[in-house]
Amino acid sequence: MGNIVLLDDLTINKIAAGEVIENPAAAIKEMVENSIDAGATSVTVEVKNGGKTLIKITDNGKGIARDDLPLAIERHATSKLRQIEDLDKIDSFGFRGEALASIASISKMTIISKTSEDTLATKMYVEAGDIVELTEDAGKTGTTIIIENLFFNVPVRYKFLKNDITEFRYIKSAIEKIAISNPGVAIKLINNEKEIFKTYGNGKLEDVIYILFGKKISQNLVNVNYEEGGIEISGFIGNTTIAVDSRKDELFFLNKRYIQNKTLYSSADEAFKGDAGIGKFSFATINLKMPPSFYDVNIHPTKKEVKFKDEALVYRVLYTAIKNAILSKDFLGNKVTEENKEYVNSEFKYVTNHFINSEGNEKNDLSPNSLDSKNNTEIIKRETARKIDYKFIGISFKTYIMIEIDNEMYLIDQHAAHERIMYEQIKDNYKNKINTNTQMMLIPELIELPNKEIEFIKQNMELIKNTGFDIELFGDKTIKINGVPDLEYKSKLSNRRLFLDILDEMTSKQNGNFKSVEERFIATVACKAAVKAGMNLTEKEVDYLIQNLLTLKNPYTCPHGRPTTVKFSKKDFV
Ligand code: ADP
Ligand code: MG
Repeated sequence: MGNIVLLDDLTINKIAAGEVIENPAAAIKEMVENSIDAGATSVTVEVKNGGKTLIKITDNGKGIARDDLPLAIERHATSKLRQIEDLDKIDSFGFRGEALASIASISKMTIISKTSEDTLATKMYVEAGDIVELTEDAGKTGTTIIIENLFFNVPVRYKFLKNDITEFRYIKSAIEKIAISNPGVAIKLINNEKEIFKTYGNGKLEDVIYILFGKKISQNLVNVNYEEGGIEISGFIGNTTIAVDSRKDELFFLNKRYIQNKTLYSSADEAFKGDAGIGKFSFATINLKMPPSFYDVNIHPTKKEVKFKDEALVYRVLYTAIKNAILSKDFLGNKVTEENKEYVNSEFKYVTNHFINSEGNEKNDLSPNSLDSKNNTEIIKRETARKIDYKFIGISFKTYIMIEIDNEMYLIDQHAAHERIMYEQIKDNYKNKINTNTQMMLIPELIELPNKEIEFIKQNMELIKNTGFDIELFGDKTIKINGVPDLEYKSKLSNRRLFLDILDEMTSKQNGNFKSVEERFIATVACKAAVKAGMNLTEKEVDYLIQNLLTLKNPYTCPHGRPTTVKFSKKDFV
């Protein structure tokens, strides 16, 4: 009994059908997805000449029934969708019933398939869409599809193919994405008789990542695992060590389907900001699982594009998932996991600027005092939980503090570490509008400034005050500094120098990492106020720095993304 049916015209029109097979990679992707839809646990893809002369896909899925085989290559024939109402429930890769028909019409295709009910397999040979031969054949349950000479009858399209190497690169990239999103399926890729890779199909994403990306990446992963509002997010992100210059290793999947989506990219950028490094992108393979009713995949037949019905929800949930993962990394050997919800929420509001727009709503229910004591208890709790016993070895290059904990050695970058501490302090003041955190100067300083600087101050007076500076305009060209942020243990810069350095940075070169003036200003104050590389620290100051780092929610990197600590194990030295 057959399973495949022809869709009616109304349904066809509604699913935006009209698929075009652009290149061998597109054909292969469709066929491997068919294999997985058919329940295969093992799929082998073999190609020659970038897929132009030969593509052979073998799976151990449920097969196609003998009666169904001719239908499989009919346009709009599918076993996966019956009527348009089903679209919201569909969880297969395919549903349009177009792919095999499109591929068959532009190639010489042989399908050999057997279901568990049939004793013999059926073999069908199709040329340019016409069935030439239909016979019985020996074979195991499953399907093998052989495509010879793709585009043989459409020379114009053939001409547009790239060289074999490039076409193979597309194929490899497509298969890699399928392997990542289907760790439960063993996938093997063979090019010109050479095995390129083979995944185990044991369900472990970390094993697939190891096979595809190598040891260095697989050793620097952090697990992502979060659920909210009906959206389940899982996968891995890389830590700072393996951040790269392009987005090519930032892969998102929606219900296992690789997608490219602006909402996801910008949410991830925001969450990684300060943790991947300036202009860098973190390694990420993340799957978002949600009911099909949450989105519309139907806007483009290649299905790489989606439209989320609630973009804001997806943005926030992904942000939270990534932030949580970042905050779960161990630090100086500490693996305490704590509740991050409130912190991540407040970070989210800060980066998306809800905080400043919400006209003190946030502030009213938390008076500075209650907030202070709440923060303090939290910090003390964290401090106790994260107590570490370290041996101070020394400081090299007046920059890297060397300590030993258990069998590990850590280098702490004194500037990056101090910068992160300052940053958190200033940001806290700013978020909570604690502009009382100012150290008043005995003798206020008058500074004459160029127009550009005065303009900046005029425009950002509130921001400057909220980070702890007490300044006033004094005539057209002069400002008066009455006080500076009361930060513990500042670098030895004069207050005047500090403020001028910050102004200089803010009014000159623009760095793309920070979206808002607020973020950039706070990071700049932190950077300028922090001890520099090359400054001498005493052992007591070092201890103070380490203890302070340990009290932070996010001690991993400086606000620009440079790691604060680097770990070396004993075995790294031999
Ligand atoms: P769709 O995947 O959208 O249904 P396709 O043209 O890709 O359309 O495939 C048509 C039909 O052929 C599928 O619905 C399925 O029933 C059958 N089919 C294709 N490939 C396989 C396979 N490897 N194993 C089992 N059935 C398959
Ligand atoms: Mg399909």
